[in-house]
Amino acid sequence: MSFRRDVISKLIFSWARRVLPSMSDTEREALEAGDVWWDADLFTGNPDWAKLLATAPATLTAEEEAFLNGPVDELCAMLDDWKINWTWRDLPPEVWTFIKQKKFFGMIIPTEYGGLGFSPYAHSEVVRKISSRSLTAAVTVMVPNSLGPGELLMRFGTRDQQQKWLPRLADGHEIPCFGLTSPEAGSDAASMVDTGIICKGTFEGSEVTGLRLNWHKRYITLGPVATLLGLAFKAYDPDHLVGSQEDLGITVALIPTDLPGVSIGRRHLPAMQVFQNGPNWGKDVFIPLDYVIGGKERLGQGWKMLMTALAAGRGISLPSLSAAGAAFAARTTGAYARVREQFGIPIGKFEGIEEPLARIASTAYLIDAARRLTCAALNEGHHPAVISGIMKLHATERLRTVIDDAMDIHGGKAVIDGPQNYLGNLYRGVPVSITVEGANILTRNLIIFGQGAVRAHPYLLREMNALGDTDKARGLDTFDKAFWAHVVHSITNLFRAWGRSWSWGAFAPAPEDAGPVTDFYRQLSRYASAFALCADMALLTLGGKLKRKEMLSARFGDILSELYLLSAVLKRWHDEGRQEIDLPAVQWCMATGFRTIEQRFADILANLPNRVVAIMLKIMIQPMGARGRGPSDKVVHACAQLVLEPSVARDRLTPDLSQVDDDNSVARLEKAFLLVTAAEDVFRRMRAAHLHDTDAAIKQGVITPVEAEQYKAAHEAVLRVIEVDDFAPEALSPLKKAIGMQIVQERSESRAAG
Ligand SMILES: Cc1cc2nc3c(=O)[nH]c(=O)nc-3n(C[C@H](O)[C@H](O)[C@H](O)COP(=O)(O)OP(=O)(O)OC[C@H]3O[C@@H](n4cnc5c(N)ncnc54)[C@H](O)[C@@H]3O)c2cc1C
Repeated sequence: MSFRRDVISKLIFSWARRVLPSMSDTEREALEAGDVWWDADLFTGNPDWAKLLATAPATLTAEEEAFLNGPVDELCAMLDDWKINWTWRDLPPEVWTFIKQKKFFGMIIPTEYGGLGFSPYAHSEVVRKISSRSLTAAVTVMVPNSLGPGELLMRFGTRDQQQKWLPRLADGHEIPCFGLTSPEAGSDAASMVDTGIICKGTFEGSEVTGLRLNWHKRYITLGPVATLLGLAFKAYDPDHLVGSQEDLGITVALIPTDLPGVSIGRRHLPAMQVFQNGPNWGKDVFIPLDYVIGGKERLGQGWKMLMTALAAGRGISLPSLSAAGAAFAARTTGAYARVREQFGIPIGKFEGIEEPLARIASTAYLIDAARRLTCAALNEGHHPAVISGIMKLHATERLRTVIDDAMDIHGGKAVIDGPQNYLGNLYRGVPVSITVEGANILTRNLIIFGQGAVRAHPYLLREMNALGDTDKARGLDTFDKAFWAHVVHSITNLFRAWGRSWSWGAFAPAPEDAGPVTDFYRQLSRYASAFALCADMALLTLGGKLKRKEMLSARFGDILSELYLLSAVLKRWHDEGRQEIDLPAVQWCMATGFRTIEQRFADILANLPNRVVAIMLKIMIQPMGARGRGPSDKVVHACAQLVLEPSVARDRLTPDLSQVDDDNSVARLEKAFLLVTAAEDVFRRMRAAHLHDTDAAIKQGVITPVEAEQYKAAHEAVLRVIEVDDFAPEALSPLKKAIGMQIVQERSESRAAG
């Protein structure tokens, strides 16, 4: 008999079992998917920086490197994004063939099945490079390597299924897609009404037990050209052919799209992006039970399988695309702001332009830092569900900010579409990445903290599992241990958070010899402890109701996200050899992140329903209110300079983008940028002398003949860059001729009448 367990804990246990809201199977499976990593350290309130810095940075093998410099570059050289989007509305046939032949669809499939067996980081690097050339090609390559038949078969398929399908997926014999979303079920995908009824039927001439499927899916990427559809549906067994249960739950199966009853091929046009995407239908399609991924045993386990696969996939595809987009925008916008002159000086020198330019450059630094850190975790075999949610949301959301800024800085140059516009399509494509793989509002408000609080919290999941244990005595025993450890943790954390907040983080932990970024570590340690304290108090006072308090949950999620992203920034700076010249980007990210954290704390404290607890927390962690002011003008100016001049810092910020090497609008911009910056002094003297004519300048001794040539070459290169496209009217509209004739006719009729 233990007084603590059998009296105190028992009372709390019984009360908590009564008041805790019940959790559906799909909620539980989503919560339990994947694992935790650095997010769990942050949640302790006392992250171990030595552990973070000791994580090996993600690297490529020689084979992966060769693939990036070989087939990936070759593929990029084949892509003309304007023609793909405007003329063909598809990738040309030779690109489809190349993608299949070079096994781009089999990057994550192990070599034993004929795939490339690449690491998550290599997969990410490939997507990143292709994204800097063509979104359509990137999405086409990304999808079969993300959530879909390949990933699901590798993780859950039977040996027979793996041997049959994986080699065909790896070499492009099969084009896969994955159908989860239906008209009724978007974000709430588990509410789908697509069904599979277990019954007897004839398949390839024999009578077998199988599933009769009826479905309507939409928005399915690669769907219109897919030969193998991974389908999610709800399985029922009304005649008890496989067991006593009737409603089996969400199940995933492989559907060859040439089976009778499958309708596939129609296309959507998502935000004018032309990757293959469309609806599909199934009417009484019959498949044998061994087409269920994982076989009969996995009937009803589809949701768990999907959530597990999503836990890794979300951390790679869209973050890689976003990292590419942000780096691409940083490189091109910096160059454009440097070569484009208005009011007699490069527009990049105006403070009004420096501000968004600094935002672009620093955000590019941050997204790529977080991508690399997440890939390092994935390479180590983690499937961090909360982190991949953070990555999906923040990489795409921040890409949106970056592209908006880039568009504004380019002015009309980026608004006018045509082959010379290198930004417009990226701008149009951003809403797609915001919407897919868990729409951003839902991910921010419901998932990051909703899942993080349970998964990454040191004790909560153990407590919840104990409360739900069908063996009450065992549950009480586990609960007793977890609960009291939780109490000690909370009290320790209360004093830690209080002390660190009142001392402004001055004594909070930081790695030794962290140099100029020591205080940033200290502040993150301070905020982590304040976060852990506030999260505990919110959970204590709101319990299960916190799930419905989406605005509060979103603010907690934002703080957790900032803590992760800023950790990644410090890790990147460390891994890249603490480059002094990159420091402004680190300072910008930190100051901006701290401002967000301060603001979110203030908003939480102003809105926490239990006012006594809120006031107590405010006194402890934010007695003077939100204090973060954001980056200083000096830091903003220094950040903008990172992309306004050619430098190693600029190259480090925007490495290995595909567009910059050959003859296209981006290559011309890069050339003009290099010529203009090399001739800076010549331009300056010409401006000071109020001269445009080089002959006159030579005569007056302002420049030499060699410098005149330099000036002219740079000037001509700039003229080519600032060009935009125009079209013959009939090239834009087939109606143009008819309308023109109608106007002429109307005019002559009105003249005749008048
Ligand atoms: C181009 C494209 C490609 C796609 N590819 C695929 C694919 O290959 N396979 C596939 O299965 N699906 C695919 N999808 C579907 C995609 O996953 C869904 O669009 C997404 O899940 C959102 O569903 P919805 O569009 O119906 O929006 P809705 O679910 O109607 O949501 C509308 C808005 O409400 C918000 N919302 C919903 N619930 C909540 C909540 N509880 N709290 C706060 N906000 C909430 C959402 O965040 C969103 O902003 C694709 C979609 C697009 C547009």
